[in-house]
Amino acid sequence: SQQFIWPMAQFGQIINIYQRAEASSDRVYSLMNERGTLDESADAPDLVVTDGTVEYDDVGFGYDEEQVVSNIDFRAGRGDTLALVGPTGAGKSTVLKLLLRMYDVDEGAIRIDGTDIRDVNLRSLRRAVGHVSQEPFLFYGTVKENIAYGTFDAADDEIEAAAKAAEAHEFIVNLPDGYDTKVGERGVKLSGGQRQRLSIARTVLKDPDILVLDEATSHVDTETEALIQRSLASLVDEKTTFAIAHRLSTIKDADEIVVLDEGEIVERGTHDELLAFEGLYANLWHVQAGEIEALPREFIERAIR
Ligand code: ADP
Repeated sequence: SQQFIWPMAQFGQIINIYQRAEASSDRVYSLMNERGTLDESADAPDLVVTDGTVEYDDVGFGYDEEQVVSNIDFRAGRGDTLALVGPTGAGKSTVLKLLLRMYDVDEGAIRIDGTDIRDVNLRSLRRAVGHVSQEPFLFYGTVKENIAYGTFDAADDEIEAAAKAAEAHEFIVNLPDGYDTKVGERGVKLSGGQRQRLSIARTVLKDPDILVLDEATSHVDTETEALIQRSLASLVDEKTTFAIAHRLSTIKDADEIVVLDEGEIVERGTHDELLAFEGLYANLWHVQAGEIEALPREFIERAIR
């Protein structure tokens, strides 16, 4: 399946710019809205997650005047996995950033168990929603501190258990100082796959009710990916999970697959339903499976626009 065109391989440079932007926005976001662009009242109540039902109600958003996503409507509950697929720039990451309140919706609302996420405090929202991003943020500190980041009072054995679940333990113990090895800006350099596994370990430890997996395994080789998929599968069991994946094989078992194109939902259903529909998803699937040579020309043009 090396022939697939959509999306990363061919446009590496463009993607790199996005990833850098993503990394810095993560950094900003991890500082808990210090930009002050969100409207949050200091005494907003905590989010209380009960059923873990997440609902997008006719959501629209643009970074500036230009609308980037519109009419986004879906719902997922505890134990469900909802996957977002579509060409680069379709708005997949944007849709999920709205759930983390990195930005507020311009239209419609996002509700968790019936509560508009704008009506609760950000701390409680971000405690409830775990995020594994394309380019996870590591700060200068030990591996242990990086995994424990965001979790109050984690014990060493819990940190190690989380690392094991994320298939990170083995490489960690082979670092110069094991769990006490300094990583981040001035620390030991880790590969993309290693950083990603640390980020997954952090999320395993945090144990949020809602999971956002943005290209969760994009940096790892096929073998590591299979391991991570397996550990994620047990992790997502009692959670409400939203996943963006470019390799469709990783989301084929999702309860619902929502196909985005140019900021709108163009198809939705299960893998089998979408294959039978013979639309955009089916086309992408067959290309990635190596069954057909390439995407139609107009599709490629859209993907790189
Ligand atoms: P996808 O995740 O499907 O690749 P994105 O949600 O990253 O798509 O991007 C959707 C659109 O929003 C793209 O046109 C992109 O250029 C634009 N975009 C993404 N992030 C920003 C940002 N921080 N500021 C302005 N425009 C952005």
